[in-house]
Amino acid sequence: MPTIPPSPVKADPALDAITAKTQAGQRLTLDEGRVLFETSDIWSVCDLADQVRRRLHGSRAYYNINQHVNYTNICALSCSFCEFSRKRGDHGAYEMSVDEIRARTAEARDAGATEIHIVGGLHPYLPFTYYTDMCRAIRDEAPRIHIKAFTAVEIVHFARISKRPRDLRGVLLDLQQAGLGSLPGGGAEVFDDRIQKQAFRGKLRADAWIDVHRIAHELGMNSNATMLYGHVESIEDRLTHFDILRRAQDEALTRRESSSGVSDRAQGCFQAFVPLPFLPDGSDLTHLAGPDGLENLRTLAVSRLMLDNIPHIKAFWIMQTLPMSQLMLRCGADDIDGTVVWYDITKCNAGATHQEMSVWDLRRAIVEAEFEPIERDTLYRRVMRDGAAWHVAV
Ligand code: SF4
Repeated sequence: MPTIPPSPVKADPALDAITAKTQAGQRLTLDEGRVLFETSDIWSVCDLADQVRRRLHGSRAYYNINQHVNYTNICALSCSFCEFSRKRGDHGAYEMSVDEIRARTAEARDAGATEIHIVGGLHPYLPFTYYTDMCRAIRDEAPRIHIKAFTAVEIVHFARISKRPRDLRGVLLDLQQAGLGSLPGGGAEVFDDRIQKQAFRGKLRADAWIDVHRIAHELGMNSNATMLYGHVESIEDRLTHFDILRRAQDEALTRRESSSGVSDRAQGCFQAFVPLPFLPDGSDLTHLAGPDGLENLRTLAVSRLMLDNIPHIKAFWIMQTLPMSQLMLRCGADDIDGTVVWYDITKCNAGATHQEMSVWDLRRAIVEAEFEPIERDTLYRRVMRDGAAWHVAV
């Protein structure tokens, strides 16, 4: 019988101190993060992230039943990584009416969705009332559905079009009063001015992105955070990104703690981090290869280890693919997102016109990876369900 050769990858002694710190629940430095990104012993990094994930969430793996609405692809910006945006009059340009969004909401409600996830381009002509009307229509049509909507760059755009460029709080408050429940994490890309100029000119700087989320947290809303990686950024840029998020979360958690009992409004924080691999097809950066599978696993695992104060790490199957998301559950992820009826922004299957996963497929993927599937709502509360009827477990 042939002998199996030993693994060519040797355990890296540089990981010993990091392992000890992680197991003791201590925060890792950026230098230690660099070791995690550079070691050849990627599987030990994944194992370590798995230990942290199991300490936080045991064998639970979360998913939700949600509907994505991308209300327009018409956008004033032209980010070079974006295959989604169009200019008005371009082939394929579209904008949805509030009535269309209402109809989409009714479908989602009837299918038992607990969340509507809304993002779109920065439409140069739609008035701010379009967005508040959209939230009110959804609230009216499906009062129990959580509205998770509008990335930070959209919120800044709304402040401009509502002629209140310095009043982000007022804009967020108007949206909250119309029904907005929390913010998604998009638009962060990579927090670095050099990269911004090179690839996302006109998009938000890190401080502006953080400002929007801080104000949303102060108003009691939770939010997510993303990082688009695998294009022109360096390992240092990824670590800086983690550091900025980790410090912003420290501040959010401190605010929440100091306000509990003295304020009538609960303070929000970041709930989940979502690493997003750059997909070059259809963008202006098709000459780049994009990250490979191992890089995707490693980046997710390092995010679990570095972002010690953000409770959830999401393997966003729509960009990572479902098979890769299964592996990621073993490398630090505890969430694979939702059924995602229709998502137009990026497609892991080139040419797909409709991306959707059945609950059965999501649950089966989680069970196959040897985790316990738990349906959650947007706020990570357990959902109990009988068909389309659902309630949050107490
Ligand atoms: S990434 Fe967003 S802001 Fe940039 S061009 Fe695409 S839709 Fe517009």
